[in-house]
Amino acid sequence: MKKLIVANFKMNTTPSEFKAYAMTLATKAKGSKNNIVVCPPYTHLCVAKEILSGSKVEYGAQNISDEENGALTGEISANMIKDLGAEYVIIGHSERRTKFKENDKLINRKIKTALANGLKVVLCVGESMQTRAAKQALTFVRKQLDDDLKGIYENELESVVIAYEPIWAIGSGKNVTSKDIQKMVEAIKKEIEYLYSDKASKKISIIYGGGVTLINYKKVLSLEFLNGALIGGTCLDVDDFTVIAKENY
Ligand code: PEP
Repeated sequence: MKKLIVANFKMNTTPSEFKAYAMTLATKAKGSKNNIVVCPPYTHLCVAKEILSGSKVEYGAQNISDEENGALTGEISANMIKDLGAEYVIIGHSERRTKFKENDKLINRKIKTALANGLKVVLCVGESMQTRAAKQALTFVRKQLDDDLKGIYENELESVVIAYEPIWAIGSGKNVTSKDIQKMVEAIKKEIEYLYSDKASKKISIIYGGGVTLINYKKVLSLEFLNGALIGGTCLDVDDFTVIAKENY
């Protein structure tokens, strides 16, 4: 089954290092049946355009402003990244939600801005360990979807991928069980059905992120109810990332 494999570089690598990475990835990714997307820092998008245009690998950013333009020192808009050939943007990553205090209202506005500019959105949702321990994980994520997708039309969901990322699993090496992922995928589908329709819940793309490495990727990506994976730490090694991105699932 064709999967979506998304790399989140976070704030790692320089543009020069990324150039070497992108050249290797573009060569190695040839013939892959999966959709491969790399999301480096903004400063690398010119390099991505130069190296990855016309290759099998698509690219995107890790964030955008909710505004189209204006007096917003330090911000980057959706049409700026689109102009550099970005197809995707990650919105609502837990690091943005916690470290940069992004709330669901802002995330909702960012999604609308991204969609209005023709970008595909990887919307991250997921619970903390505390929320999981309180047995509130499913309710918590359903509420995130409810708030984040407010005012988004059903036909726009074609450009939205939901990334389930339990916060406690990110970069931790702690593994979520397949059963836990399945339960969350079912809860996400139920919420999409509630908010939209049965058809929308069947069509929605759901990927998993959090501690996916060379050790466990086969197990995660062979889950037929998942459409792919979001990969942080492990994507930084181009050889490791290519192994995951090229596999037939
Ligand atoms: C992430 O932060 O989106 C992520 C998936 O990180 P990691 O793979 O390192 O857990």
